[in-house]
Amino acid sequence: MIKIPYEQLLEKIKTEKNISNEEIEKHIQAKMGQLSGLISKEGAAHILANELGVKLGAPEGKIKINKILAGMRSIEIVGKVIRKYDIREFQSGERKGKVGSFVVGDETGTIRITCWHDQTSLMESLQENDIIEIKDGTVRENRGALEIHLNEKSKITKNPEGITVGEVKQNIASQVSRKSINDLKENDINIELLGTIVQVFDIKFYERCPQCRKRIKEQESGFQCQQHGVVQPEYGSVMNLYLDDGSNNIRVVFFANQIQQLLKKTDADLQVFRQSPETFEKIKTNLLGEMIKITGKASKNQMFDRLEFVVNTVDTNVNPEEEIARLKSELET
Ligand SMILES: [Zn+2]
Repeated sequence: MIKIPYEQLLEKIKTEKNISNEEIEKHIQAKMGQLSGLISKEGAAHILANELGVKLGAPEGKIKINKILAGMRSIEIVGKVIRKYDIREFQSGERKGKVGSFVVGDETGTIRITCWHDQTSLMESLQENDIIEIKDGTVRENRGALEIHLNEKSKITKNPEGITVGEVKQNIASQVSRKSINDLKENDINIELLGTIVQVFDIKFYERCPQCRKRIKEQESGFQCQQHGVVQPEYGSVMNLYLDDGSNNIRVVFFANQIQQLLKKTDADLQVFRQSPETFEKIKTNLLGEMIKITGKASKNQMFDRLEFVVNTVDTNVNPEEEIARLKSELET
């Protein structure tokens, strides 16, 4: 808790709620009475402020995503990483550069963060669901959407202590729609499926270039990336399972980030499964019968001429009662 002096607490409550000093003091005395003197005046004022919805937690300077305006400089936000895109290298004329981006969200909305050149190193270790604090970003408008661009002064703090982000409010454009598996069509995007896992396959690992993340093959000289030459490979992963929602079932494709979300494991844990595949057997069995909610897109697997679902986000915390209530309300409308 931030230690705000009593006078400042009163001032905050007074200006935000338009209540007189006497009124506030009266409430505070009542609080202290209720708690039989086990609480200080400051403590009681904190409780009152919370009850009235006066925000005391956010230090000065931080703003909510829906308050961000184009042209703002040196802004400070906190958000949850909800999507991470690959870092790309590009060449324009003589100049070579790198650009990468990711999307963060808070309770008020989402925004894309763009990193240029050396700043891309700031995003390398980020994973979806990490909470991050961004300092010194600049807001720009790009094709009608706001983005925060990082510069040499910008800082990212991963999972800062004591800071949480509530349920992320998705911007309308990125909202997903629920479908039943039977209604899925090729190239459907931003779809949510809810279903039960009925079959699980082993995780497949493949060598990839640590820089561009393209799949690479072993040559005489070692693992060779067309762009980056001989490299020490890292391992990407992909896992398939069948999901059934009562209307039909579909093969669902998870890549590394999504496997981690599904299994609540780290990348290091996945590498253990690569080295000792037998340790994955028990996890496979445990997944059977699990109900999950996933978002992603439907895509045609040309080789097998079948529709598959490629996962973007995984929610393993499905509340069946909530889902039934939702289904009912959808049927009624
Ligand atoms: Zn490469």
